[in-house]
Amino acid sequence: MSNDCIFCKIINGDFGTEFVYENEHLVVFKDINPKAPVHLLVVPRVHVASLNELEDKNLMGELLMGVKEVAKRTGLKSYRTQINTGKEAGQEVFHLHIHVMGKQTSV
Ligand code: 5GP
Ligand code: ZN
Repeated sequence: MSNDCIFCKIINGDFGTEFVYENEHLVVFKDINPKAPVHLLVVPRVHVASLNELEDKNLMGELLMGVKEVAKRTGLKSYRTQINTGKEAGQEVFHLHIHVMGKQTSV
């Protein structure tokens, strides 16, 4: 947990953010500024600043399985995934996350 990290605070429950899905490795919540009809963020519980700081190979496997699981649960048959790494690439929150963007097809 990083004290000045907004996603760590969300994970800690500081803002009462609703989790669309969660397991021991990750939480999933809605992006506050959605760029698609469904825009979710898949976020590891552990604080990793970006893909450049990732050391745990298994963690990325868990995150991608989390993407698959949440897509299934929210009725997303087609979706885009995105990871922004570094300020110039558009990374605003320095806690690793995968954007999942799509259009709901069923619930
Ligand atoms: P990045 O640009 O770092 O890849 O993506 C950060 C994303 O987090 C942005 O799409 C932004 O809208 C979202 N975001 C930033 N702060 C919050 C917040 O407090 N709550 C939620 N739900 N999303 C946030
Ligand atoms: Zn964090």
